[in-house]
Amino acid sequence: MRKPIIVGNWKMNKTIAEAVSFVDAIEPLLHDDADFGVGVPFLTLEKSVAHAKHLLIAAQNVHFEDSGAFTGEVSVSMLKEVGVTWCIIGHSERRTYFGETDATVNKKALKLVANQITPIICVGETLAQFEAGETESVVRTQTAAALNGLAGDNVAALVIAYEPVWAIGTGKNATKEIAQDTCAIVRDEVKKNFGPEVAEKVRIQYGGSVKPENIREYMAEADIDGALIGGASLKVDSFKAIIDALKA
Ligand code: 13P
Repeated sequence: MRKPIIVGNWKMNKTIAEAVSFVDAIEPLLHDDADFGVGVPFLTLEKSVAHAKHLLIAAQNVHFEDSGAFTGEVSVSMLKEVGVTWCIIGHSERRTYFGETDATVNKKALKLVANQITPIICVGETLAQFEAGETESVVRTQTAAALNGLAGDNVAALVIAYEPVWAIGTGKNATKEIAQDTCAIVRDEVKKNFGPEVAEKVRIQYGGSVKPENIREYMAEADIDGALIGGASLKVDSFKAIIDALKA
């Protein structure tokens, strides 16, 4: 049985003070029926980790090199120093605006896993790809590429987030059927490459306009093990409503 995992992705929102006050407010609301986390801006990581007891604190990106002339980038050892144990990679906003590719996502996944940081790997098709009927081939390619070279045990422990780009921040969430079908495709791609036991263990999230009002319908689907949540993770009230909705 896979434990549900809900992760907020704050994107470029919240100062250090705002992050700390959110973490302090959310901590007492958590329960054991699911894992809960937030992906926070780099500057807020250290204090967020210090204030979190059960809330998982994730970075939103990392560089795949150990150090060097990469202006503006952050390395795995820098994340480790502040106690970070989770990291989102391959988000569509990073692919679209910052040149992230399947190849760099794979390098980041390998580097994170080698350093005991669990990746949350985002995959998902654009609106044009969705309309052209390319969803399956896009998510299969992205999933296989991101995981290439990882050991099965590591894949079993990580999280893959299926986020259709057309559903992110648009209010146009994918239907539960589309989300389920595509998460099942992602799981099948994991099975093809790493076998049925790994596929059975890997946790797959849906992301894209998830809110307190629709979280339950996604979680009822067989291959959806959680959600990656943008807008609705920014306010304590709406994140609390999502936490409450996950109570068994
Ligand atoms: P929204 O929940 O705001 O649509 O964002 C989804 C997302 O991109 C999470 O990574």
